[in-house]
Amino acid sequence: MSIVHHHTDGDGWVECTCGLRHWGRYGAAGLMLVDAELGVLLQHRAHWSHHGGTWGVPGGARASGESGLSAALREAEEEAAVPAEAVRPRHAWVEDHGPWSYTTVVGSATRRFEARPSDPESLDITWVPIDEVPKRPLLPAFERMWPGIRDQAHRSLVLVVDTANVVGSRPDGWWRDRRGAATRLRDGLAELPPVPADRLDLPATMWWPEIIMVTEGAARGVPEADGVAVVEADGDGDDAIVRVVADVVATRPQDHVVTVTADRALQARIEDAGAGHVGPSVLRELLDAAE
Ligand SMILES: [Zn+2]
Repeated sequence: MSIVHHHTDGDGWVECTCGLRHWGRYGAAGLMLVDAELGVLLQHRAHWSHHGGTWGVPGGARASGESGLSAALREAEEEAAVPAEAVRPRHAWVEDHGPWSYTTVVGSATRRFEARPSDPESLDITWVPIDEVPKRPLLPAFERMWPGIRDQAHRSLVLVVDTANVVGSRPDGWWRDRRGAATRLRDGLAELPPVPADRLDLPATMWWPEIIMVTEGAARGVPEADGVAVVEADGDGDDAIVRVVADVVATRPQDHVVTVTADRALQARIEDAGAGHVGPSVLRELLDAAE
């Protein structure tokens, strides 16, 4: 195993308007990995580092043009030997100071691996039971965000997409090829950027949802894609959507379930099933921005 210092063009200090100096010319990001049994993967920071001796999450300066997620995954791999493909990001918390920001990405481990200190910034990398996290001396920025993060640590966002309603929200000729239009929507959803939390009235700053598309009628036959499950309605599409929502609410009561539809009658049934809803424009804006 080689121990090396990693460098990016983001290395450097920012004199911030808050009166403090922060590390990372383009801001900084870290990964908080959560495992239902093991707890939270924390880094004991080397004494020579900024706020040395405290505990935080593996993280560091973002490179120019690098997203918070990409930086968090890269830093976790460099500092803690966390394989990026073993991380499912769920939500992120941005502490935004204007000239500088810190993005904490909260994700689940999708498989077991050996996390260990893999660069000199870590004295130790270890799983800490979630209720014991606040008993350790924490990195100040991490400590400030901890109560909110703790509350959402095990929660995911599930988006249930009323495919007919979202496809029908834009008159682009979808009626000539309903399955083709639904397939294009699926392709966009597979690449969906993180959803701003305030658009869904959720805590945190952004969410990477699990997506369930419900298709009906001539739009059926769309294959699933990475990150997008497809449920085909046997009969009425609304009935199928309500069944899917009720099933997720019952089996995963801790998670946020939001249905994407502008259909008022369906929205009322979704509320009765214990879930939220949002109009197609939220998805449309994200899909358009990603193109
Ligand atoms: Zn600041």
